[in-house]
Amino acid sequence: MPVVCTGMRWQLIPILIAASFLTACSTIPKPKPIPTGSLEQFQRRAEKFNEIVTVPTFETTTNEVAATADKVIASGNAGLDRIGALKPGEVNFTNTIRALDDVGYIIQCAENRLELIDQTSTNADVRDAAGDAIKKIDQWSVGIDYRQDVYAAVKAYAATQPQLQGEDKKLFDETLRDYRRAGLNLPKDQQDEVEKLRQQLTALETDFDNNVTKATQPLKFTKAELEGVPEDFLEQQGIETGPDEYTLMANITFHYLMVEENAKLEETRKRMMVVRCNLAREDNIPVLKKILVLRDEIAHKLGYASYADYATEIRMVKNAATAIAFERKLEAGLQPKFDKELEEFRQLKIKETGDTNTTIHIWDTSYFGNELKKTKYNVDEEQLRVYFPYQRVLKGLFAIYQRIFGLKFERVVPPYKWIGGLQLYAVSDAKTGEPLGLFYLDMFPREGKYNHFAEFGITEGKLLENGKYQRPVCALVCNFPPPQPDKPSLMSHEDVVTIFHEFGHAMHTILTRARYSRFSGTSVPTDFVEAPSQMLENWAWDKKVLDSFAADYRDPTKKIPEDVLNQLKASRLATEGTFYRRQLSFGLADLALHTQIHATNADDVVPLSNKILSEVSLPVPTNTAFVAYFGHLTGYGAGYYGYAWADAIAADMATAFERAPDGFFDKMAGMRMRKEIYEVGDSRDVNISIEKFLGRPRSLDPFLKKIGVEKQ
Ligand SMILES: [Zn+2]
Repeated sequence: MPVVCTGMRWQLIPILIAASFLTACSTIPKPKPIPTGSLEQFQRRAEKFNEIVTVPTFETTTNEVAATADKVIASGNAGLDRIGALKPGEVNFTNTIRALDDVGYIIQCAENRLELIDQTSTNADVRDAAGDAIKKIDQWSVGIDYRQDVYAAVKAYAATQPQLQGEDKKLFDETLRDYRRAGLNLPKDQQDEVEKLRQQLTALETDFDNNVTKATQPLKFTKAELEGVPEDFLEQQGIETGPDEYTLMANITFHYLMVEENAKLEETRKRMMVVRCNLAREDNIPVLKKILVLRDEIAHKLGYASYADYATEIRMVKNAATAIAFERKLEAGLQPKFDKELEEFRQLKIKETGDTNTTIHIWDTSYFGNELKKTKYNVDEEQLRVYFPYQRVLKGLFAIYQRIFGLKFERVVPPYKWIGGLQLYAVSDAKTGEPLGLFYLDMFPREGKYNHFAEFGITEGKLLENGKYQRPVCALVCNFPPPQPDKPSLMSHEDVVTIFHEFGHAMHTILTRARYSRFSGTSVPTDFVEAPSQMLENWAWDKKVLDSFAADYRDPTKKIPEDVLNQLKASRLATEGTFYRRQLSFGLADLALHTQIHATNADDVVPLSNKILSEVSLPVPTNTAFVAYFGHLTGYGAGYYGYAWADAIAADMATAFERAPDGFFDKMAGMRMRKEIYEVGDSRDVNISIEKFLGRPRSLDPFLKKIGVEKQ
């Protein structure tokens, strides 16, 4: 699965502020030209380290894509048949637990490649075929859990009470845990019942998602009603639909934000929000009730107090109570800052309306947040672009990542390119020359390509049966502004934050040394996977880091003016209270729905969620049902808390660099990160890995400080 990040924070802007206690940096790396090498040499060198570097063979026709799906399913079935045919006396770790990981590995690598093709192929038929192939493999893989013969072999091995340690023990425990979570240790009739409920649930989740996708709602405004909304937006095709009539779509996030952030008239902002918060309501509220009741029922049958407990068991947070307590603690901590921000918004509203008794409503926060940025901080992010030509940023980023993680990147020629400008880089250990992996860069938009920013694992790291370690291969798929005839690709500051973030995921994939595919690379709990990359976003806010590469492309002696960067930081910090209270309201509503809704009170879905949203953020508009359009409830059920959770860990982890002698250039801290976080992946409990990296227990303080919460 690709690690999809930007855009996952819903329609809210990612906000991370560099800490202020920077230490002096002795040697700042100067961007050097990127060396080129030969892929064959790199692969031969891997052999000396008992490793394999394989360049993936990409399917290029619809027939090849379809054949891959059939081949993977056949090979998966053969692998499962081999395990299922074992007699109780024949079972051991290798032919059961490890063999299951091997089966999963083949499926995962093929699916990874097909997902990349689905998102990047220049041929629409091939993209469609890849999408179909993925669906086919997914449907087949649902049945793996319920292969009774395979489960019997695993149980027979478990009955030998093996004495395992470390990664082997974790693999064994988690394999059994998966079977328990699928209901396989229940009596047969209950097992069938759970399987049936799970199938019903999957169908309903698909319905919910489809209803979200197909919900559309046009809203008509006059020019006067849209005062403040940028002209160039209103001039876009399809918006002006009649004499003094402008049609905006409440379901298009971009349209929605244009109104919420810019429309001067309160009534316009309110109208847009009310419509947005009722999208898919009639279709989805009945579906959501059924989903929540089914989830609750499944969780109870499997022995959990709630679905939230079931879902969080396999994440870092481990149970619902810890997630709720974390969110409540932040909620309370943010109160003074939240109050202060609301008062600042209110003063702006008084100035605009002349009404000294005015109050701030939920449809006012984006508008006055934007006003505050424009008036108080005078922020113009566009003027920063000249400092971030793509090539310069890439070189600078390479220099930093090579330095802190002890690596060497070499450009090599890809044997196959899915687009002309595709680049391939080989990563080695700087000291020993050990080959570590490959990454592709597909960085600019084109027709039919994936339209966000993500890291796609292709070949995951794994210790193969022959004793050799398969080194990983991944791709960054991004959409930075393409170069123009008269000027290079000029990135926004947000783009720079994004590339530091995404490249962190590539490091997570490539630097792995986990032996099993289940644990390698980014296969860590979902409430942790973003944290290392969120930590690396701090680099893009640091003046010293930026000065090591960013310079005006027309006159490279010109660096980013310090006051502009400071204004940008201050303006982000200015609305952190409002931003996080809204995030927490989503997280807490999600957790409440997954702990408090049962078959007996399903009608409370809307009142319960509205109550929490209103208490934690600001009162929702009356007669709305935000949760009907809350896509996170299906894919990430009881998982929204994970954004703030990972943000908090990221801030804590960043202190390891901020307090180090060389700050964000510190090699010791970087190497500790490589060893304790990236190399181990999920082969060890990430709670332990984070503490080993930090050299102390975790703390929430750095995060509170970062978002402007005074110490209590
Ligand atoms: Zn990410």
